[in-house]
Amino acid sequence: MLKLNEQTYDAIRRHGEETYPHECCGVLLGRSADGVNNVEDAVRAGNTRTDSAHNRYHIAPQELVKIQRLGRERGLDIVGFYHSHPDHPAQWSKTDFAEAHWLGCSYVITAVENGAAKITNSFLLTGTTEEDKAFEDEAIEVAALEAERC
Ligand SMILES: [Zn+2]
Repeated sequence: MLKLNEQTYDAIRRHGEETYPHECCGVLLGRSADGVNNVEDAVRAGNTRTDSAHNRYHIAPQELVKIQRLGRERGLDIVGFYHSHPDHPAQWSKTDFAEAHWLGCSYVITAVENGAAKITNSFLLTGTTEEDKAFEDEAIEVAALEAERC
């Protein structure tokens, strides 16, 4: 299961609307425990695929390392990635699967139709190696921000 707060969930979806008709992408920082990826923050990443930014995404390794380091300073790990599918369903593509290497991470996809974010789905990359990896549908739980902290 993927858990995130309302603010982060909205930020991911808004990012896809902003970059439409191109894909957006980013990294989810948080903590992993008991089969739940708890997202604390979503970090935007530049889409480095200039050849066809509308249907492929890629995060530069240097950028990923930088985001990972920033996360560690806050005690957070990379627990997932997100990107958008402009005018395409929120389902993973063959390319998405081929380029997914972070076992145990959540891959979040938001369908953006005519500039408006529609369905957001999450897929957990399961398996123990590159050979037996698989995407599994994953539930998303969106929690309201801590309104009652006292
Ligand atoms: Zn995709």
